[in-house]
Amino acid sequence: MISLEVPRKFSALINQAHQTAAEVLRANSRKYDTAEHAYPKELDLLASVVDGLNASSATGGAGAAGVRRTERNGTPKNTNGTNMSTALSIMEMCWGDVGLLLSMPRQGLGNSAIASMAITEPQCGSDSAAIRTTATLDGDHYVLNGEKIFVTAGQRSDSVVVWATLDKRLGRAAIKSFLVTKDTPGLTVARLEHKLGIRASDTATLLLENCRVPKENLLGNPEIDTSGGFAGAMQTFDNTRPLVAAMAVGVARAALEETRRLLTDAGVEIDYDRPVNSQSHAAATFLTMEADWEAAYLLVLQAAWLADNGTPNSLQASMAKAKAGRCGNDITLRCVELAGTAGYSEHSLLEKWARDSKILDIFEGTQQIQQLIVARRLLGKSSADLT
Ligand SMILES: Cc1cc2nc3c(=O)[nH]c(=O)nc-3n(C[C@H](O)[C@H](O)[C@H](O)COP(=O)(O)OP(=O)(O)OC[C@H]3O[C@@H](n4cnc5c(N)ncnc54)[C@H](O)[C@@H]3O)c2cc1C
Repeated sequence: MISLEVPRKFSALINQAHQTAAEVLRANSRKYDTAEHAYPKELDLLASVVDGLNASSATGGAGAAGVRRTERNGTPKNTNGTNMSTALSIMEMCWGDVGLLLSMPRQGLGNSAIASMAITEPQCGSDSAAIRTTATLDGDHYVLNGEKIFVTAGQRSDSVVVWATLDKRLGRAAIKSFLVTKDTPGLTVARLEHKLGIRASDTATLLLENCRVPKENLLGNPEIDTSGGFAGAMQTFDNTRPLVAAMAVGVARAALEETRRLLTDAGVEIDYDRPVNSQSHAAATFLTMEADWEAAYLLVLQAAWLADNGTPNSLQASMAKAKAGRCGNDITLRCVELAGTAGYSEHSLLEKWARDSKILDIFEGTQQIQQLIVARRLLGKSSADLT
């Protein structure tokens, strides 16, 4: 049976993540928001801490790779594993700073360093099936050509996972992902973006010009299975969407805590024992936001729990992302409003959190795309039926 209690075995992990978030991420939050594109050198010291977090997590590693189902004496056993522990530590870290979390060392494939993910192109965003970057087999290598835009950590990463098509005529099924190390000839960082939020995180345009990678660097099955469609590649998102939702939950909690402090200082009483309609507007708004936050938080835990227990979670992953993405935007912006001038000025981080949270409702699939996926799943429609 599903359990959304935070397991006791994760307490140490959560505490460690919170302490790191407070002492390193939150402490440098404004500095790297102002100094966009400056390298956050404080994060280098964190590599060993992140190793510790990974070692403390149930399946011994961060990220989606640890999904597994545990059996004891042949009986399936509920597991709170890597997906749950990663979601919980990401919430803490994003309470500290979203942009800095996205620049953390040790996030990459194989736990090596940062690996960025390059899907988006000038002509292809939400519709990732429209990818034009090509991968052509030439002896023992694939030759990649194309342009990738808005690649998070595109400059700082040591390697990049590039989505490219083996044959444009075969549509979605021919899209594969390739691991490309940053020192590969033909791969260049063309420019960095200036952004509304998460300014501590670098966002790059990458050019691939006759970029040769060993054919083993194709991740997954090299065969083009036109009957299987795009499902394999898209399943990546079932594991990553709850984590982006966790980021939104973390930053929204930061905004709620700061707003509570400001309201309390201003003499606003927030009473959990009285109905909202008998309290001040500020208190009622705050209580409504907290309830909304709780719903988003529980949806994230649900999606992570299902992944940890080997249960398909596409619907719940998109529900969590849609709810938390929107909640992150609504809550942080309303906190700016409730806090008045303190919320809009740079004296507090509230205005920054409102800017940072916007991206969490856009990347890994926008709000509208999540709603489309939820509708398709609930109505039993395919992507061709409901667009
Ligand atoms: C800071 C930042 C970091 C990013 N990092 C990465 C990264 O690391 N890797 C990567 O590959 N990409 C990354 N992206 C790109 C991001 O994933 C895309 O911006 C996103 O998928 C949306 O694509 P788009 O911008 O082309 O918008 P479009 O797809 O053109 O959408 C524009 C609007 O139309 C809506 N829309 C589109 N299709 C539909 C539909 N069928 N029904 C209803 N509404 C629809 C969208 O919801 C959106 O509101 C990043 C973007 C930003 C801003």
